[in-house]
Amino acid sequence: MSHIIHRSLKVTPPVAASAQGVWITDRSGKRYLDASGGAAVSCLGHGHPDVLAALHQQIDTLAYAHTGFFTSDAAEQLADQLVRTAPGDLNSVYFVSGGSEAVETALKLARQYCVETGQPEKTTFIGRRQSYHGNTLGALAVGGNEWRRKQFAPLLMDVARVSACNAYRDRLPDESEQQYTERLLNELEQTILDTGAEKIIGFVAETVSGATTGAVPPTRGYFAGVRKLCDKYGLLYIADEVMCGMGRTGTLHAFEQDDVVPDIVTVAKGLGGGYQPIGAVLVSDKVMEPLRNGSGMFQHGHTYICHPTAAAAALAVQQVIERDNLLSRVQHQGNYLLQQLHAELAGLDFVGDTRGRGLFAGVELVRDKTTKTAFDPAHKLHAAIKSACLEKGLMVYPMGGTIDGQQGDHILIAPPFIIEPSQLDFVVETLKQVIIRETAKAA
Ligand code: PLP
Repeated sequence: MSHIIHRSLKVTPPVAASAQGVWITDRSGKRYLDASGGAAVSCLGHGHPDVLAALHQQIDTLAYAHTGFFTSDAAEQLADQLVRTAPGDLNSVYFVSGGSEAVETALKLARQYCVETGQPEKTTFIGRRQSYHGNTLGALAVGGNEWRRKQFAPLLMDVARVSACNAYRDRLPDESEQQYTERLLNELEQTILDTGAEKIIGFVAETVSGATTGAVPPTRGYFAGVRKLCDKYGLLYIADEVMCGMGRTGTLHAFEQDDVVPDIVTVAKGLGGGYQPIGAVLVSDKVMEPLRNGSGMFQHGHTYICHPTAAAAALAVQQVIERDNLLSRVQHQGNYLLQQLHAELAGLDFVGDTRGRGLFAGVELVRDKTTKTAFDPAHKLHAAIKSACLEKGLMVYPMGGTIDGQQGDHILIAPPFIIEPSQLDFVVETLKQVIIRETAKAA
């Protein structure tokens, strides 16, 4: 019996024994194609020699030094790299150990900005329904995934909430994309007015939403509208790119494709590609300068911030992505994946939508394609699909999100950027067979 508190308290998962490239091998010798990069983490695949070399070198010279005493070359260089490649005035970086910590940091930084700019009455945020920002209490509070929030709701701060941008689900039949976008922006503006702009610190959103709805890109003009409203009413715009950032969508930051620059950006998974636990918060001069010229400190900190070994791994990952021009590869392979998903799956009886951006793709399953009714959650269709794919040696990331209070089933595909077209064919073909078999059972 395992003494670890695993995700399931009843089932111990197989033991991962080794991994190379897009493949993970378990202790029995069975190989799995890692088409989800874990949870959109392994952007370079496994065992990349350049990252391993950088890690070894860092561990041999300086594995750890506490930030109360020192900085390190690895963390400084990673910050330089992130600032050089970020648009606008995102010129400062805070390093943490993962996505939830990055979101907590962003929330606290935004609050401190308000305090130091003479707006202490700003105490709340606007988040979106059907969103996920992490499992710690602050992140859970701004997130809108009811299933994850429910039993912890009494512990969470109050957050105002607006609809997510999900054209497949919410655009009305007689509405154009532009009209739908305007409706969402009107709703956001009304929520700001109802809540009182003077009380709101900022608006928090995933650029391409991942864990709750399965790679749903925003409509054209949505984030440009968000940016305008945040400026108009004095709200900070916080982009959570923990899952969709760091090249996953074909640009380093997903928001670059929406022609906006947020005030604060969280990144994590693809930053270190799974070689080390690391997350980061990119911060604009607009937010940092008042703190630099004010208290001169950010009232925050963890033992492992700026961890040199984690920074060295992330720096190597980001250098390989840049050197090998992997963003353009993500665009190409991503287009191919989306095309194939559409061609092979969209026509199936229970596939409601195929969508995504770059190598961040989602498939939504519905009981009825006309009404878009979700399958009965009791079927746990997403879990059945995950198991059936694993049996066939394929890792995808299925989940049940919340649609109008119902669980809906999605499959997220987020393979390493180095994946080959023939491997993408295997992903699509395997998924097709599994979807046909499992939806037939659930229907
Ligand atoms: N934010 C987003 C958008 C995420 O998708 C996730 C994790 O899936 C998180 C935050 C939390 O990250 P972590 O699991 O590293 O704490």
